[in-house]
Amino acid sequence: MLPLSQALEQMLNQLPSPTCTEALPIHQASQRICAEDVISPINVPSFDNSAMDGYAVRLADLQQSMTLSVAGKAFAGAPFEGEWTAQSAVRIMTGAMIPQGADAVVMQEEVQVNDDGTVTFTSLPKLGQNIRRIGEDVKLGDVVLKQGALLNAVSLPLLASLGIEKVKVFPRLKVAVLSTGDELVPVGQPLQAGQIYDTNRFTVKLLLEKLNCEVLDFGILPDNEAQFEKAFLDAQQQADLVITSGGVSVGEADFTKHILEKVGKINFWKIAIKPGKPFAFGKLEKAWFCGLPGNPVSALVTFYQLVQPAIAKLSGYSQWKAPMRLSAITSTNLKKAPGRLDFQRGFYQLNAQGQIEVQPVGFQGSHLFSSFVKSNCFIVLEQERGNVTAGETVTIEPFNDLLR
Ligand code: AMP
Ligand code: MG
Repeated sequence: MLPLSQALEQMLNQLPSPTCTEALPIHQASQRICAEDVISPINVPSFDNSAMDGYAVRLADLQQSMTLSVAGKAFAGAPFEGEWTAQSAVRIMTGAMIPQGADAVVMQEEVQVNDDGTVTFTSLPKLGQNIRRIGEDVKLGDVVLKQGALLNAVSLPLLASLGIEKVKVFPRLKVAVLSTGDELVPVGQPLQAGQIYDTNRFTVKLLLEKLNCEVLDFGILPDNEAQFEKAFLDAQQQADLVITSGGVSVGEADFTKHILEKVGKINFWKIAIKPGKPFAFGKLEKAWFCGLPGNPVSALVTFYQLVQPAIAKLSGYSQWKAPMRLSAITSTNLKKAPGRLDFQRGFYQLNAQGQIEVQPVGFQGSHLFSSFVKSNCFIVLEQERGNVTAGETVTIEPFNDLLR
C-alpha cells in the first residue's frame, strides 16, 4: 500500500498546469484563477490626502502664531484651488488632496474656532501628521496579485481600486462525472430489491461546482465492460478530467482498472488510508482520470484528499494550500488499527480551558455517510498509531471551504 503523501506527489508531478488563458472583465472573473502577475498601473493613494476632517497647516506659520485665518476649503474630489496666503490654514475633509506646501493636518477636535473665523491650535503638530502619502498602500509597478491566485471578493476589489478592468484567467476545468454500478438508481425513482440511490455522482458534482469546474454529467454506468469502454472514450473527448466512482476494487464487477489499462494508462493504487483504500489515477488519450472508491464516505474522503489538489494543479491554482492541520485533545477513546492513515470524522470545539478538543462523530464505517453531517473536521491518525486513549493529543484537519 502506498502512503498518501507519495500518491499525492506522484500524481501532482504528472499533472500539468494550464497554458491557455483568456481575458475577462473583473465582474465576470469571480472564483476564476488569475493567469498573470498583475502589476499596479497607479499609486494608491494616487495623491497625498487627508486622513482626518480638520485643518491643513504649514509649520512655519504656526511657529509665528498659533492662531491662523482660514484661506479656503478642500473636499474629497474638490481640491483647494485658491491662493494660500501666509498665516492661514486650509479647512480640509477626509480624502481631500493635501494643498501644496502643507506639512500636517490637525484634526478638528483639537482646534478652537474663534468668533472672527480664525482658528487657534493648542500645540505644534508633527511633520506629516494625518497625511496619507502617495503610494503608501500600493506603488505603481508593484505586483499586487500573483499568477495562480484565486480571484474572489478580496482580490477582485483590489483590481477595481487600481482601475484594472480586465484580468487574464485560466479556463474553467471541464470535468466528466459518472457513477458505476448495476445497483444504482437515480434519486427520484423507487428502489427495487438490492438497489441503492446513487449518492456519489451528486456529491462529486456539488464538489466540482464549488471548485468552479464545468461539470459534464455522464450518468450511471452499468457493470458491463463494453459500456465502460464506450463511456470512458466518450467522456474523455469532452473533458479535461474524468471522475468515476465504484468499480475500482477487486470484485468480479470491478472493471475500471481493466478498461483503463486497455484504453489509457493507469496508476492503480492501494493507498494506505482509511477510508478510501482503492483509488485509480491515470490518463486516457485526451483527459486525466480519477477513479474514486464506491463507498460514499471513501469517495468523499479521496476526492477531498486527492482530487481537490489535482484539480487545483490542473486549474492553475498554484496558490492553493492544503487544509491546515492542528493539534487537539481527544475527549474520548478512538479505535485505530496500525497500518493505514485514518481520516475519522470528528467534531472539534474549544473546551472550558480554551483548548481545542475533538470527539469522533458516531460510527466510522466507510458506508456510513450520515456521520459526515455532524462533523467539522477529520481526525488524522498516523499510519502506525494504534488505539488512542481519551486525553491524548491528536492531529485534526478542520474542513476547508469545500465541505462548508
Ligand atoms: P464498488 O467499489 O463498486 O464495489 O462499490 C463499493 C460499495 O459502494 C458498494 O456497496 C456499492 O453499492 C457502493 N456504491 C458504489 N457506487 C455508489 C454510488 N454512486 N452511490 C452510493 N453507493 C455506491
Ligand atoms: Mg460497483
